[in-house]
Amino acid sequence: MSSAPLIALALSVLLGAVPFAPASETAPEPPALSAEEQAALTDLAQTPAAWFEEQSFADAIGRLPHYDEVRLSRYLAYRTKGSWTLEQVLRIVNTDNDLPRYTAAADAELADGNLILVNKYSRLASDYVPDDLVTVEPAYSNGGKLKSEVNDAFCDLVEALWAETGLHLVNISPYRSYSLQSSLYARYSARDGAAAADRYSAHAGYSEHQTGLALDVSVPGGTLNGFKKSKQFEWMRDNAHRFGFILRYGEGMEYITGYKFEPWHYRYVGTEAAAFIYENGLTFEEYYAYYVRK
Ligand SMILES: [Zn+2]
Repeated sequence: MSSAPLIALALSVLLGAVPFAPASETAPEPPALSAEEQAALTDLAQTPAAWFEEQSFADAIGRLPHYDEVRLSRYLAYRTKGSWTLEQVLRIVNTDNDLPRYTAAADAELADGNLILVNKYSRLASDYVPDDLVTVEPAYSNGGKLKSEVNDAFCDLVEALWAETGLHLVNISPYRSYSLQSSLYARYSARDGAAAADRYSAHAGYSEHQTGLALDVSVPGGTLNGFKKSKQFEWMRDNAHRFGFILRYGEGMEYITGYKFEPWHYRYVGTEAAAFIYENGLTFEEYYAYYVRK
């Protein structure tokens, strides 16, 4: 066993969760580093002992983009946590993933509109209901509602998919109320145990589906799990951003997003943010931390 799984295990024990995989080889590429930043990483990689020296660790991480001086002690805590890369340490701490999930959560910022962050650190009230829900166009849906703007964007997306590929796609789970999410999570955790359920199902109040901005899709008559192998998934992965949607829980990014890879789950953020997130290979947590959070 390499040290990476051990570290993931240690972190998950700390967080009271099941072990989760560190970033895989399929994780999105981070933005290119400058020569100086690359030199700092190379120095550190060539001298493993430097990881355990506070000053050299601080110097190296201090040269990375999005370094946050206020979080220095939290970065430094990872000196003794093994084989996360320096960039991963930065991502983890900058998105608060070093804090305990759920218990460290704060209220989501409703004023962020389409860029609202809802995850294991940012929750919605039990009585929050989006104010402009509409029934999703029946031709593209098994039922349910989305925010009006999101429904329009989803219809455009499905029509473009059809025009460009001749393939079809349906929404099978859009807006969910707090109470529906509560019963879903109760069912999954009873079946699989809370730790396993936490990797794919949100506690009530912590689900993006309550925002009316998120939806799960499948091929007509298909299943969520089957979607990954479909041509529709390939198209969605490469084109959803043109319509304002992002693949929200990317492969190998569970240590940031808190969820296993979900090829079927898309989140509306608007075309500008979606294009930026797609082009830079970011998680929404990182985008929020760097460009939305004040
Ligand atoms: Zn979903």
